[in-house]
Amino acid sequence: MSNLPSEPEFEQAYKELVSTLENSTLFEKNPEFRTALSVVSIPERIIQFRVVWEDDSGALQVNRGYRVQFNSALGPYKGGLRFHPTVNLSILKFLGFEQIFKNALTGLQMGGGKGGADFDPKGKSDNEIRKFCVAFMTELSKHIGADTDVPAGDIGVSGREIGWMFGTYRKLRNQWEGVLTGKGGSWGGSLIRPEATGYGLVYYVGHMLEYAGKGDWTGKRVAISGSGNVAQYAALKCIELGATVVSLSDSKGALIAEGDKGFKPEEVYQIADLKVARKALTAFENSSYKYIEGARPWVHVGKVDVALPCATQNEVSKEEAQTLVDNGCLFIAEGSNMGCTQEAIDVFEGVRKAKGGESIWYAPGKAANAGGVAVSGLEMAQNSQRLNWTSEEVDEKLKGIMKNAFENGLNTAKEYLTTKDGELPSLVAGSNIAGFVKVVSAM
Ligand code: GLU
Repeated sequence: MSNLPSEPEFEQAYKELVSTLENSTLFEKNPEFRTALSVVSIPERIIQFRVVWEDDSGALQVNRGYRVQFNSALGPYKGGLRFHPTVNLSILKFLGFEQIFKNALTGLQMGGGKGGADFDPKGKSDNEIRKFCVAFMTELSKHIGADTDVPAGDIGVSGREIGWMFGTYRKLRNQWEGVLTGKGGSWGGSLIRPEATGYGLVYYVGHMLEYAGKGDWTGKRVAISGSGNVAQYAALKCIELGATVVSLSDSKGALIAEGDKGFKPEEVYQIADLKVARKALTAFENSSYKYIEGARPWVHVGKVDVALPCATQNEVSKEEAQTLVDNGCLFIAEGSNMGCTQEAIDVFEGVRKAKGGESIWYAPGKAANAGGVAVSGLEMAQNSQRLNWTSEEVDEKLKGIMKNAFENGLNTAKEYLTTKDGELPSLVAGSNIAGFVKVVSAM
């Protein structure tokens, strides 16, 4: 647990994990895991540094940079870099902590870490963002390496920023190595990496639908929040598989499709272009879409079958969770990390237990959004082999990893919890226990 005066996000993530472990037979069966829990909850190392860079007017600016190297029992520290004004140690410790267990659930040899800076790319020119990336990597490069710590992107860091940072690392070290993932294809990136988190989420929920006896994605109405990389590719895959996507959102509001028809693929691509130009979604409002300022989608989408939070942490409140349940939503799976508040999870888990076969089924981000880091792991494997796999090969492996992550969570829940006849097993508890057991056994 935290010994700092206030680390609310980290404490939330820690308590969420521990409450599911405590409510199972895990510690009864393995008393030694209690000590392991105290050890695993403290990062192996935290690196903090200042990042000084020059803006377009020639003035010096300064930001805080971080890398939390949380756990390396299963492999090199692995996890994204977030550039956002809200970044602080509490946020990065929560993300790094979740990353440990998420990475374990992929079945690949990756430890857990997270980093970033309180730098806000919004309102900055391309040149300023490039200069920030170079300054950030100038310090970070001393602490990472292909077999030590392999960062990737997260909010505010996409292929372009990875490119600038990778180029800086290569020049400073005078060596090419797979030190970052999410790279461009021409310098060693994996095919399907940009799509992987969104695609993987949709593959995961496909298994939930099938197991719960609700068929496949055809005809399902889906609410999605966010409009970044995860939301875009989740939407595109849902549409490809025959579902209707009725919402997307940005930090200022929600874009809701009017009537029965949802987003078309070309509209999702137009929204992706708006994001690249760092423009708000309001630019997309027309007769088919209403933009509700200051809102998140959940209470504005009416009846949906599936809800996929894909924006940021704590983006589904207790009240929003209750509205989704009241409106008949059956599946909720996080594309974002800790997308639901603990109170929202309690609403979903409460209904799951109460209603049995017709209940809502909640999947936590550390299982449902593991596809992104999984393909990062496949990128590391390709870089080590000096080989590039085809899209088909990577997509097939991604599908296999998401199926295993789903089945692992499901079977672990059945092993460590009592599930009544007709009740769906708890994916949140099962995934937490499965990831935890894998990591602490290795430790
Ligand atoms: N930021 C992503 C995550 O939260 C991906 C991390 C990675 O690819 O290393 O899992």
